[in-house]
Amino acid sequence: MTTPITTTRHGDVLIITSNNPPVNALGHSVREGIVNGIEEANRDAEVKAVVIIAEGQTFFAGADISEFGTPKSFEYPALPQVVDIIENCTKPVVAAIHGTAFGGGLEVALASHYRVAVPSAKLGVPEVKLGLLPGAGGTQRLPRVAGVRKALEMAATGNPVSATEAYEAGLVDRLIEGDLLQHAVAFAEEVKDTRPLPKSSERDDKLQEARDDPGLFDEFRQANARKFRGFDAPEYNIRAIQTAVEKPYAEGVLEERKLFLELMSGTQARAQQYFFFAERKASKIDGVPDGTRPRDIRKVGVIGAGTMGGGISMNFLSAGIPVTIVEMQQEALDRGTGVMLKNYQATASKGKMTQEQVGHAMGLLTPSLNLEDLADCDLIIEAVFENMDVKKDIFGKLDQIAKPGAILASNTSYLNIDEIAATTSRPQDVLGLHFFSPANIMKLLEVVRGAKTAPDVLVTAMQLAKKIRKVAVVAGVTYGFIGNRMLIPRQTQAMQLLLEGATPQQIDKVHVDFGMPMGPFQMADLAGVDIGWHRDPTRIENIRDALCAVDRWGQKKGAGFYDYDEKRRPSPSPKVQEIIEDFRAKAGVTPREITDQEIIERTLYTMVNEGALILEGGFAQRASDIDVVWVYGYGWPVYRGGPMFWADTEGLPKIVEGLKRQLDRLGPDFRLSQLLVSKAEASEKISKV
Ligand code: NAD
Repeated sequence: MTTPITTTRHGDVLIITSNNPPVNALGHSVREGIVNGIEEANRDAEVKAVVIIAEGQTFFAGADISEFGTPKSFEYPALPQVVDIIENCTKPVVAAIHGTAFGGGLEVALASHYRVAVPSAKLGVPEVKLGLLPGAGGTQRLPRVAGVRKALEMAATGNPVSATEAYEAGLVDRLIEGDLLQHAVAFAEEVKDTRPLPKSSERDDKLQEARDDPGLFDEFRQANARKFRGFDAPEYNIRAIQTAVEKPYAEGVLEERKLFLELMSGTQARAQQYFFFAERKASKIDGVPDGTRPRDIRKVGVIGAGTMGGGISMNFLSAGIPVTIVEMQQEALDRGTGVMLKNYQATASKGKMTQEQVGHAMGLLTPSLNLEDLADCDLIIEAVFENMDVKKDIFGKLDQIAKPGAILASNTSYLNIDEIAATTSRPQDVLGLHFFSPANIMKLLEVVRGAKTAPDVLVTAMQLAKKIRKVAVVAGVTYGFIGNRMLIPRQTQAMQLLLEGATPQQIDKVHVDFGMPMGPFQMADLAGVDIGWHRDPTRIENIRDALCAVDRWGQKKGAGFYDYDEKRRPSPSPKVQEIIEDFRAKAGVTPREITDQEIIERTLYTMVNEGALILEGGFAQRASDIDVVWVYGYGWPVYRGGPMFWADTEGLPKIVEGLKRQLDRLGPDFRLSQLLVSKAEASEKISKV
């Protein structure tokens, strides 16, 4: 096997070049090659300086994640050893950075005595996103080189900085315009005689700001409390950096190692790493012949400029794809396009878009009142009212209007895609594209595969999703697809629990403490309690009907399951309590104490069960896809992996036991998944990637 690392000489500079596509990950052979190169430099008296550089699209973009948790990652030379060997090189080492110097890649750069970078490079330590910390001296060297505040920001959020920002922080010594290697060698020539060598681990100057102001750590924690809620890794990163300030380097690296190993052996890191692979796996479509080519999508049509149609259109406009949006009446059309412009302006006012970009995006939009204007579109997405007759009517018309080969999609939340497809003469071109609200922001896209959907239509949808920066998951035709179908038992049980003695705030609190952004009743108030309501205030069959009948439709009306003040801050509602008690009395139910564990069993275990039913029915391709839906569609905490991964960490026998314990209360519609039971009995896991 050829080594991914080669050394060459340019005068008295030794160049260590990595060539390990696609991203020069720091696998074992790369690490070994770097060490060999440094040893060569130490040995050879003619070598006066060293440049470490990478070929291809990037500098070392990180550790080799496929080695995680395997003996290979600890085998000599492990990354902590590599960086020490680099720093202890007797000749100056210059890291020449392009692309991304991420994680272990940045640690290699930090251990080098100097760093030069092209302006387009990005530097970061994203380990926190995998539930970890940079464990090869990164938490100790980064604050010493870039300053404590910058190090906290980078390590605890995992967000990279641009080379320019890095230069301003002192993390990069020189920005290189032009040929990187040539300039890096020239830089090495300039510094070859500098002694003592500037070792990051020996620097102290940048730690002073935190010694003078030790409160900055708590300030940082508080400022990010919301973002970090529930996650272990950000706090571990902060603690490691705090140690860098408080303890000598040698003690700091030991503490870093200890914290790293604690994280590595925890459930959160496992969950986050699982999810990393789950997300990548989701784009693979089962049963599609290799080499299936996507169709060309140059122009998109959207029908309906309501809540969803507007947001859906923005995704394409932002990606530079022209959109024709069709409404029934001018007023609705103006309102819809007005909201789109307002949303773009809001983004611009936060500095995330220029006025020019807003103008460009809106310039790609053609508003219309005529379906026939969609004749030249390659993809048409229907986002009108959730009503089968209306949708059938539209698809019937589209069949006459759309050009041959155009893809016809519905954004329906629940309706049967096959039934919709049957109204056309081209069911192979029809599929569901289920966006989540707000559609311009939410990352998830459920791609609903109809019985007759053609493979190239699916491939096109998955590729297009990437282009508009969505994470797509393939779902089968079943009521509510993956995500909303799993909401049903949760909602049913949450409502039933109210009758039995729980309060909305108790149930919501269990969900928020679990890590969800909000509980079922907070979500209902946000989305609208009236969604799907029969609209007859005299027909009151359940608590929800009673709320709707008195105009408690949620946040938009200032009242729902909670009362809201003018700033939309919720408080428990005596009126809702009254309605609940009224129903209990009518149903002859004596309220009892409901434990948090019962809430978990009835609202979360039932979701897991529904996920397993979806899986055994073939409506999801794999358990990890279900997890992707819940993390990206509903804010399931990624540190718990997703409902199916979480079920495995709870233990499937415990889940099945909990469900059986509640069986009498779960109602006539509840059905225990045989897949779940058999996996539990066989001591197998349900989630894997
Ligand atoms: P909405 O009521 O906000 O918008 C629907 C729009 O479609 C209205 O502006 C209406 O005038 C227009 N319309 C109706 N019939 C039309 C026709 N024949 N031609 C052109 N325009 C027509 O509804 P929404 O919330 O945007 O939902 C649209 C679809 O998206 C539904 O199928 C819904 O189930 C689905 N969906 C909604 C959400 C959500 O959270 N709102 C999320 C995912 C999917």
